[in-house]
Amino acid sequence: MLYTNVCKHCFKTFKSRYKRNTCSDCIGLDDAHFDEIEAYLKKYPNSNALQISEALGITAFEVLNYLKEGRLELGRGYFERLDEVNFEDNEV
Ligand SMILES: [Zn+2]
Repeated sequence: MLYTNVCKHCFKTFKSRYKRNTCSDCIGLDDAHFDEIEAYLKKYPNSNALQISEALGITAFEVLNYLKEGRLELGRGYFERLDEVNFEDNEV
């Protein structure tokens, strides 16, 4: 069976055998953005998704997806307060 995924970078819909948040075109971008976010959080550890998004030009949607993937671990409760970034789960 195939999963229908939405790429968090270009919002293209694509199918894959495993759940993924990044299409094959955006894999490189994914790693680059992740490195940027990680570096930013080292400098400003208490940033929330919106601040990261504004500072780096990365959508808050994407930042939150790194959290969902377990690649970013903040655990400080800041992200939970972002009520306005209440996006739907795209998993089918
Ligand atoms: Zn993409």
